[in-house]
Amino acid sequence: MKCSIAGCPGEYEEREIVHTVRYYGEVIVIDNVPAEVCSVCGDVLLKPETVRRIEELLHSAPQPAGTVPLYKYV
Ligand SMILES: [Zn+2]
Repeated sequence: MKCSIAGCPGEYEEREIVHTVRYYGEVIVIDNVPAEVCSVCGDVLLKPETVRRIEELLHSAPQPAGTVPLYKYV
């Protein structure tokens, strides 16, 4: 599928990404999220069912599979 960013000649390709969301002020990182990523500009598209799955995951608040170092840009 062609990229939706004006003037970008890229195409979206299926990839697994690291998705970061802020949920009630906390940074949540979800790995291996299926997404469409533009090969040129890196624009990311999530399918509606993927967004729904992420929301379900956040609401069910499972134990994290791991922890990540969190840095602030200063
Ligand atoms: Zn693009």
